[in-house]
This record gives sequence, structure tokens and C-alpha cells, in this order.
Amino acid sequence: MPERLPEALQKKVTDRLGFYEDIGIRLFYRDRGTQVPAGSELLSEAPDIATVSNLISREETILPKPASKPQLQKAAPAVLPAAPTITPPPLPVIAGPSLFEAVDKIADDTLLKIRDHLGECTRCKLHGTRHKIVFGDGSPRAELVFVGEGPGADEDAQGLPFVGRAGKLLTQMIEAMGLQRKDVYICNVVKCRPPENRQPEDDEVQTCSPFLLRQIDAIAPKVIVCLGAVAAKTLLETNRGISQFRGQWLEFRGRKLLATYHPAYLLRNPAAKSEVWKDLQKVMAVLGLEVKKAKSVS
Ligand code: URA
Repeated sequence: MPERLPEALQKKVTDRLGFYEDIGIRLFYRDRGTQVPAGSELLSEAPDIATVSNLISREETILPKPASKPQLQKAAPAVLPAAPTITPPPLPVIAGPSLFEAVDKIADDTLLKIRDHLGECTRCKLHGTRHKIVFGDGSPRAELVFVGEGPGADEDAQGLPFVGRAGKLLTQMIEAMGLQRKDVYICNVVKCRPPENRQPEDDEVQTCSPFLLRQIDAIAPKVIVCLGAVAAKTLLETNRGISQFRGQWLEFRGRKLLATYHPAYLLRNPAAKSEVWKDLQKVMAVLGLEVKKAKSVS
């Protein structure tokens, strides 16, 4: 009878496979595919604006409208066409009704009204363990909105998003773009800290994300950057791993959306910072910010 791996080792292996998935190495024991243009991972210098613009138009992928969703649940083709000339297949969506399709833009909505409506929220179980609601922070007229997963311990204590270690790295990233935190808007999928920093559960995301949607509609940013898989999967309503669409221009309710790695992931995997910096340079190009070469977050 085959010997079972001890539970701790099994978890380690699962975590490691998840990590490989996150950094884009899938099914490495089979065929790695040909999706990454040779040498692109070795780029040490930022591409110039023209190159970034080319990348943007090449990678622009418009998410399907809800009407065509059933079709999208088909599995992606086993052999993907060689990048970069062909647009990747649309993201398959989670089965069931869309969280957002029925939500119309609320006329004259403002962050103040949304905060007021949220109140001392008890709509989901996270309220039982939170200290402070972390609504969001920054400019109500920001052209750039960052969406994270949910507050951690520091955010829960202060009532502000991204103020812990990952937050400090996000602040550095924002400053490396030539901006300050007050120029952008930072918020999360869920407004209350999940206990033990676990991922927010589906019911919590479903309950809280309409407020996020209203925040995005009210701010009407030019670009939304999803930090990590939870934000990306929530807004894009996809089950795909973030590594499959990280750094690509997508669309969310008519706005440009780009998903990149979460700063907490970068703290554990500093080598991925260069990928995130390339993603942020794409954002800078769209926002008309000067794309400086060789600047990176450390
Ligand atoms: N991680 C998040 O996703 N959000 C925060 O606000 C802090 C850490």
C-alpha cells in the first residue's frame, strides 16, 4: 500500500505548488507551454513608453459581457497559441449569477454616502471579530485605485488600508511611480479583517463587494489595479489563477483593470518585484506618468 505523506509535508507540497502557480509555473512536470516570450523574464530594464503602449494594445483583453458567460465556462484550449500575436482566450467566469451584472451605477453616489450606508456594518460574520472598519483611503477623484484583499491586524487597529508591512511596500511602489498615497485611492474587497488573516470567504466577499463596486463607480478612476488574486478574481469574476492574466489590460465596467501580485506576496518573494514594477510601468504609461528606467522598489 502506498505510504501517505505526513499531513505537514502534504501541506508544504500543496503550498509550494500554489506558489509555483502564483509565479506562473504550471504543470511543470508536463509541458510548460510557450506563453512566455523567450527572454522576457530576463528584462532588467523597463521598456520605454512606446514599447509599453505596444504591449498594452497587444494584450488588451476585453472581458466578456454577462450575456455570453455560459460560453465562457468552456475549458481554455489545451494548447495556447504562441504569444504575443494572439489575444489570450477570455477568462472563464465563476458559475452562477454575476455579482455585479445587476448593479447599476448609482447616480450622484459619493464616498461619503457609501460610508454612511455601510454604517457600523453587521452584514457578515466578520463584524464579530473586527476592531475597525477599513473603508478606504485616498483621493475621491483618484485616477488610480488599488484594490487589496482585506485588512490585516495593523489596518484593523488603525481603520486604514495598507498600513502594515505590505502597506509600506505598497507606499514605496506608489512613490516609485512618482505619486503619493493621497493621489490614489486604496481599498479592499472586504472592509473588515478576516480572523487569523485568512482569505475572505465567498459569503463575505458577496456581502461586502457591492460597496467596493460603488466606491469604484463613485471615484470613476482611469485605472484599477488589483493587488493579488482575491481582488482580481472578485472583480473579474474568474476562477483562473492570477498568473494567467497578471500584467494584462482587462476591463471592469468600462474601466481599464490590471492585476498584479499582492505586496504581501512580494515580501515573501522579492524576486517578483521586477514583474510588478513592469506592470506598474504599464499603468504609468496609461496615466501619462513619466516612465523612468531602472527604478524599482526594494
Ligand atoms: N492586505 C490587504 O489586502 N489589504 C490591506 O489593507 C492590508 C493588507
